[in-house]
Amino acid sequence: TTITAADIEKIQVLGHGNGGTVYKVRHKRTSATYALKVVHSDSDPLNRRQILREISILRRTDSPYVVNCLGVFEKSGGDIAILMEYMDKGTLESLIKSGAVFSEEIVAKIAYQVVEGLEHLHAHKIVHRDIKPSNLLVNGEMQVKIADFGVSKIMCRTLDPCNSYVGTCAYMSPERFDPDTYGNDGTYNAYASDIWSLGLTLLELYMGHFPYLPDGQRPDWATLMCVICFGEPPSLPDCVTKDFRSFIECCLQKDSSKRWTASQLLLHPFLQNIKG
Ligand code: ATP
Ligand code: MG
Repeated sequence: TTITAADIEKIQVLGHGNGGTVYKVRHKRTSATYALKVVHSDSDPLNRRQILREISILRRTDSPYVVNCLGVFEKSGGDIAILMEYMDKGTLESLIKSGAVFSEEIVAKIAYQVVEGLEHLHAHKIVHRDIKPSNLLVNGEMQVKIADFGVSKIMCRTLDPCNSYVGTCAYMSPERFDPDTYGNDGTYNAYASDIWSLGLTLLELYMGHFPYLPDGQRPDWATLMCVICFGEPPSLPDCVTKDFRSFIECCLQKDSSKRWTASQLLLHPFLQNIKG
């Protein structure tokens, strides 16, 4: 049975995102709770594009490690809304801010779930492009799911000649046809950039603050960019196990071709002996 907009009622606001608001909602008949992300008709065209993109991506994905979409509502006035499963512990960012401490074992459990989610997305040619603590949702069972596909990209390009390509096909480089096999123009590395973001996220969980900056310091973006590009990647303190250290190093290779893929990371010793 599909849920319609008339079946649910708003309970409270969970958060504001770019141009949209996320509400906690209740299904009137079953009293089950859900999250509803709404983008209003009068919001910026960019925000509308982003939510449409998010919808098309959520419709393609079906993984226990990606937030589940239960329906899409389009009101006659032009509002667009996505009904999602409700993640009652909020985001990993809110847990970090509340002072939660993440042991190596908990980081491994979180890492496993995010890597499974990324493996699923990348296998479906989806690059998230915004992996960070505030886009990873948690529920009471300590399940972690990837959310917020507003800036994600679907890499899939079929060779359908009707595809509305700009330019003349005969002169296009191999990677424009098949970025996965030939890509060296940045498109291939798009997958690898999700892995870098994962590495930083896990480091932040363990350290309790963004790894490039001392606790509480506000980023000066120009300096930060220089350190990321020209400095050594951040690393763990000496006290951690060699498996944990190695896992982070596999994610934080500056040379994207040396960075491990999600499928490779699933086989890393750090993630063995973990049950979802
Ligand atoms: P932000 O810039 O904070 O990441 P955003 O525009 O990217 O915002 P989302 O990340 O999708 O939008 O959602 C905004 C906030 O709403 C989240 O940070 C989270 O607190 C809350 N939220 C979103 N989806 C859910 C959900 N399924 N369950 C519980 N809370 C959610
Ligand atoms: Mg977000």
